[in-house]
Amino acid sequence: MEFIDLKSQYQASRELINGRIQAVLDHGQYIMGPEVGALEARLAEYTGARHCITVASGTEALLVALMALGVGRGDEVITTPFTFIATAEAIVLLGATAVFVDIDPLTCNIDPALIEEKITPRTRAVIPVSLYGQPADMDEINAVAERHGLAVIEDAAQSFGASYRGRQSCNLSGIACTSFFPSKPLGCYGDGGALFTSDDELARAMREIRVHGQSRRYVHTRIGVGGRMDTLQCAVVLAKLELFDWELQQRQRAAATYDALLLGNQAGVRPILRREDRTSVYAQYTVVLEQRAQLQAALAATKIPTAVHYPVPIHRQPAYAHLDPAASCPVSDALAGKVMSLPMGPYLSDAEIRTVCATLLHAAREAAPAAAALSV
Ligand SMILES: *Cc1c(COP(=O)(O)O)cnc(C)c1O
Repeated sequence: MEFIDLKSQYQASRELINGRIQAVLDHGQYIMGPEVGALEARLAEYTGARHCITVASGTEALLVALMALGVGRGDEVITTPFTFIATAEAIVLLGATAVFVDIDPLTCNIDPALIEEKITPRTRAVIPVSLYGQPADMDEINAVAERHGLAVIEDAAQSFGASYRGRQSCNLSGIACTSFFPSKPLGCYGDGGALFTSDDELARAMREIRVHGQSRRYVHTRIGVGGRMDTLQCAVVLAKLELFDWELQQRQRAAATYDALLLGNQAGVRPILRREDRTSVYAQYTVVLEQRAQLQAALAATKIPTAVHYPVPIHRQPAYAHLDPAASCPVSDALAGKVMSLPMGPYLSDAEIRTVCATLLHAAREAAPAAAALSV
């Protein structure tokens, strides 16, 4: 069993992917070739955002978004510590301060009720993360941001394809960033990412920043980066889009099988809550449990791979701890020791999921019968 099965996915789309790659090899426009604009048009249409700008990675997308907003030294940006490091990295790379707000224990997304108390005159933006593929509480976050004149950037690296109250992730706030890292729900075969906005001025700034701040050839109107996504990677995403809706259905099927086997169990294994007004693309299917190391070892012994997203919250990371010494995120601290992600993906069979759940629940009962009885 694979944690994320990229080989089966390639076999399912082999002809489409090979054909798209061959077309790029034939025309030879490896940088800013026709597939780049074609992908941007497809993704903008998919999300409903007016503009899509592809960039070198999801990390680059976050950096370009903050640069387009003019965020820099002396500014503060509010985000969650319960995320991949790139979310905070982009903020501090620009000399701004990352201010951490704790998460909702049921979804692991930023708790919108805790944002307002962290806003100061220096706050410029909020970066919620749509973790594990489930959109954050975007309406509540947008409302508090609007009251204080702040920009909102959805870190949708894990949630492309999810919907929220009838709208698509990546079109839920002023700016959104996604990633095409191979293991994300919509991945390429290297690095890639994209920005989304419906603001024409911001879109122009992002396009210029992506190519060294050029407004015309060798005219640099702003400070930029070398941040393009190459044509071959755009071609791979274009090919994968053909099967993407089917793959999302398969992800829903796999998650529903997990839910049926795990919700309401008496073994102390609690799946992350998916709220009724949104869908998740299940970049991860994650559970909360006690005795994680022991249960991971028990699953590994029967060749079931698991992963932890993420074992140390950012305000506890060696390079970041001094940046927001006042950060108080007890829920993040507690859950970092208890979350575990199970094998997930469109090509995972219901039989495999039954094996995972039976092994997990058996190990959980063995590991801590007393704790399990208590947490029911
Ligand atoms: C993967 C990820 C990123 C970074 O994307 P890359 O394409 O790997 O640079 C940023 N934020 C989150 C939440 C992610 O999961």
